Amino acid sequence: GQVIRIYGASQDITERKRAEEAIQRANRRLEALHRLDGAILQARSVEEIIQAALEHLAQSVPADRISIAILDEEKGEATVYAHGVLEKDVGRGRIVPLEGLFYDLPGLRRGQLTHLENFESLAKSNEILAQILNEGIHSVVNIPMMAGDELLGVLNLASRQADTLNEEAIQMGREVAATIAIAIRQARLAQQLRRRLDELEAIYQAAQALQHLVTPEQLAQNIIATLEKILDYEYGAVLLIDESSGRLLPFALSDQGKGPEFLEADKAYVASRSPRLGEGITGWVAQTGQSVRVGDVRQDPRYVAMRENVRSELCVPLRLGDRVIGVVNVESRRENAYSENDQRILETVAAQIAIAIQNSRLLEQVQRHAQELELRVARRTAELLEANRSLEEFVYSVSHDLRAPLRAITGFAKIIADRHRADLNEEARRYFDYILQAAYNMNQLISDLLAYSRLGKGGISPQPVPLPELLEEILSELESSGATAEADIRIAPDLPTVQGVPTLLRQVFANLLDNALKYRRPGVKHRVEVRGRTEGNRAVIEVTDNGIGIAPEYQEKIFRIFQRLHSQADYPGTGIGLAIVKKALKLMEGTVEVESQPGAGSVFRVTLKAAERS
Ligand code: ADP
Repeated sequence: GQVIRIYGASQDITERKRAEEAIQRANRRLEALHRLDGAILQARSVEEIIQAALEHLAQSVPADRISIAILDEEKGEATVYAHGVLEKDVGRGRIVPLEGLFYDLPGLRRGQLTHLENFESLAKSNEILAQILNEGIHSVVNIPMMAGDELLGVLNLASRQADTLNEEAIQMGREVAATIAIAIRQARLAQQLRRRLDELEAIYQAAQALQHLVTPEQLAQNIIATLEKILDYEYGAVLLIDESSGRLLPFALSDQGKGPEFLEADKAYVASRSPRLGEGITGWVAQTGQSVRVGDVRQDPRYVAMRENVRSELCVPLRLGDRVIGVVNVESRRENAYSENDQRILETVAAQIAIAIQNSRLLEQVQRHAQELELRVARRTAELLEANRSLEEFVYSVSHDLRAPLRAITGFAKIIADRHRADLNEEARRYFDYILQAAYNMNQLISDLLAYSRLGKGGISPQPVPLPELLEEILSELESSGATAEADIRIAPDLPTVQGVPTLLRQVFANLLDNALKYRRPGVKHRVEVRGRTEGNRAVIEVTDNGIGIAPEYQEKIFRIFQRLHSQADYPGTGIGLAIVKKALKLMEGTVEVESQPGAGSVFRVTLKAAERS
């Protein structure tokens, strides 16, 4: 029960423990990095990527302040996003001039990291370091975020104590910086791509919008709307070269959101100061046909101020073929407002605008011609109507005045023929009969002429007219004159009711039936038929006979006044009947046409408005 010796064996496991710890730390780091990758993958913008990186670093690096500065070398600015005890504005970036922001910017650009500890002596000659020291910071690491050779930004770790930012923390910073540099580059490329797509879409829509044929005024509005969609500007204008004055006159101006009244006044203002070719930037572009993009107009000797506070200007020519017809000009109060890309877009749109302007000018020309033509036709028509009216008036009064002397001739010839017949020899009697026959014919002619020129004189008031009754009446008149003798006449019982004027309709069908009964073929049983139907809102009536027919070359001519194909001896008539038919139908907005075969018969087809059924 007595301890006599103690054996002890010991092994130094410090190394192992350290190694284990290192592995654990490396694992944790990897895990953290992995989580960061996941967060970055889900981020939709550069801001979100930075946000994720800052939060990640805050958990895994022993720093009192962590910030990420994203550089804009062109503007000489950086946007700084910070996370840490010394900064309240966590997250949202603030813009800081690049100048003097970093202790060693050239080194960072080359991809070199700077680690400063206990920099009291350096701070004496460097304002930034002095400020940091003043905030209680004693250790600073600046890690460049490189994408290839380009410095995208700087990751800054700061600590109040020296020594806390050890090798491991710096390594972590480097890894994160590399990861977010790549992510930011991707995000920027994607953003650029999206912007390009948006621009293309805008250009496409502009082309669509400008393709419609519209008046110059509408076109001007379309153009301004298009430019507004694509470019950012305070003043936008399309100026066109006025050949006669050699000046650039406003065609389309933006109303600057102030409405049409302002626009009118502004147009007058711009017109009053319209530059000559070669004058000002717009005049220079119009003269040379070259685009101009100016970041600061105060530096450009060509610039002539028309608007206040303009800083940048982008002006491109409007071309039609090799001819410059004007310019598209946009101006901004910001310096360097327009990029090379904007210029390219404006040039593309300008090509569309030029074509649209050309189209609109052509359209205007065509419309003007059409208007002139219309005016001329209207004038001519009025003249013709007037001439026609006075002609009819003339025919009417002549016919009317011929009646009295004719009556005298007929009357006295008749008295001689009746009372003194016995005193006359055979020859004289025959001559007197000729005189009477001729007088009768002339009377007929005068009656027809009067009927023709009276048509529609009292005005036209159409009404529903049932055709069966009307035709019945006409037929009984024809029967009493003997015209229907030895003819087979059929009138369909279901003739439609038409919208027309009874007196005019009577003229139409009396003449057609009279002709149909008159132009018979000798030795053939004569047949006349009247049929009717409605087609939609039109009534169609056909008067058919099996008479002599009409040769094709005369089928149009017979509707003209005095057109006759036969001698008075063969078929008596005046040649006015069908002219009356045509004119009466025209007055009732109806039509007539003929279908005929010589030696077989004719069909006269009348169409009229059908009466609406009650
Ligand atoms: P008119 O019958 O008094 O001669 P119209 O104007 O009625 O005058 O007719 C013009 C000409 O058309 C007629 O001379 C005749 O030659 C021809 N015509 C008209 N109707 C018919 C018909 N149904 N059949 C054959 N010819 C016709």
